[in-house]
Amino acid sequence: MIDTPSSVSVPLKRGRDYAIRYTSLRDLPGILHDVGLRTGKCVVVTDENVGAQYRSPVRTALSSAGWIPHVITVPPGEKSKSADQLQVLYDDILEWGIDRDTPVIALGGGVVGDLAGYAAATLLRGVPVVQCPTSLIAHVDSALGGKTGINHATGKNLIGAFHQPNVVVADLDTLGTLPQREWTSGMAEVIKHAVIADADLFSFIEEHLVDVMTGRRRDLIHKMIPRAAKVKAEIVAEDEKESGRRAILNFGHTFAHAIESVAGYGTFTHGEAVAIGMRAALFLSAQRNTQAIPRENIDYVLRAIPQQHDPSELDWQDVRRAMQSDKKNKGDVVRFVLLDRLGQAYVTGDISDAALRQAWDFATRP
Ligand code: NAD
Repeated sequence: MIDTPSSVSVPLKRGRDYAIRYTSLRDLPGILHDVGLRTGKCVVVTDENVGAQYRSPVRTALSSAGWIPHVITVPPGEKSKSADQLQVLYDDILEWGIDRDTPVIALGGGVVGDLAGYAAATLLRGVPVVQCPTSLIAHVDSALGGKTGINHATGKNLIGAFHQPNVVVADLDTLGTLPQREWTSGMAEVIKHAVIADADLFSFIEEHLVDVMTGRRRDLIHKMIPRAAKVKAEIVAEDEKESGRRAILNFGHTFAHAIESVAGYGTFTHGEAVAIGMRAALFLSAQRNTQAIPRENIDYVLRAIPQQHDPSELDWQDVRRAMQSDKKNKGDVVRFVLLDRLGQAYVTGDISDAALRQAWDFATRP
C-alpha cells in the first residue's frame, strides 16, 4: 500500500540535505523561513501559462509575510531555455539589485526550473534557489536533483550547472490546470521511476491506470507523485553528479533522444518519446531475461500513454544514426539502460544491431 507523505527528504553529502514539502503555495513564506532564508527581496521566475494561474497568489502570500518579491515572466516552452532568455533574466535581476542571500523562486515546469535554477547557480557565483514545480515532469523529475541549464544551437541541455535547491515546495493542486498532453507525457517519467526502482509503485499504477492517466484522481495522484519523487531523490542521493547509478534514470532515453531529434524537437513530447524508448528497452530486457520481466504488464501500461504521431513513420536508419551520436554515450559505445527485473535496472553497451532493430519494430507497433 502507498501512503501520502507531507514531505520527502533528499539526503546529500556535507549537510546540504533538502526536503520536498507537499503543501499549498500559500505556505511558501513559512517554508522559506523554516529553511533559514531571511525575509527581504526575492525573485520569482515563472512563465506566462503558469504565471496567469499562480503569480498573483504567490506574490500576495510573499508580500503579506514581509518579502519584497520581483516577479519575472518568461514565454512558455523550450525556446525560453536559451542564452538570450538567460541574458534577459540577468539584466532584469541585476538592475533590480540582489545580494548573495536573495533567493530565486522557480515557479513552473521544467523549463522555468532549469532556466531560473541556472540563473541562480551563476548570479553572484550562486544564490539560493527554491523550486516550486507545477508540471508533472517537474514534480517527479526536473525540480529534484539540482541539474540546471539551458540549450545550445548544437543540442539540448549542453550548458548548465549542478545547483541544489534549498527546498522544493510542491503544491500538487497546481497540476489541476496542467494540459492533458503534458500530464500523460509526465506519466512516462512516473512509470519509468516505478519500473526501474519501485515495483510496488508500478503495481499501484497498473491497478489504477485509467484513474490516474485519464481521470487524474486527486487521492491517487497525491499518493503516486511523492512516491515517484522519492525514487529520484534516492537515486540522486547516491550519485549526485551522475557518475554511476543516476544513469539508470535514462531508461528509455537512448531511443527517446534519437526519436525527438529525427522527428524534429517538439513533434513528440519528451514523455511520448520516452514511452516508446521504454518499450524498446523492455523488449531488449525481456529478450535477455525472459523469466524475470513481466513484459506484457509493463508494455500494457506503457501503451496507455497516448501517442499523437506514428513513430513507425520514422526511418530506422536515421534513428540508429542519431543513437550513435547521443551525448550520454561513452566513446563509440551506445549505452542502454535495461531491466534485470521489475524495479531493478542496469546500464549496458553490449547490444547487437539486429536486436536493436527488433526492439524498434516492437516499440513502434501500436
Ligand atoms: P515546461 O516547463 O515547458 O511545461 C510544459 C507546459 O506546461 C508549458 O507550456 C507550461 O507553461 C505548462 N505548464 C506547466 N505547469 C502548468 C500548470 N500547473 N498549469 C498550466 N500549465 C502549466 O516543460 P516540462 O514538461 O515541465 O519540463 C520539460 C523540461 O524539463 C525540458 O526542458 C527538459 O530538458 C527539462 N528536464 C530537466 C530535468 C533536470 O533534471 N533538470 C529533468 C527532466 C526534464
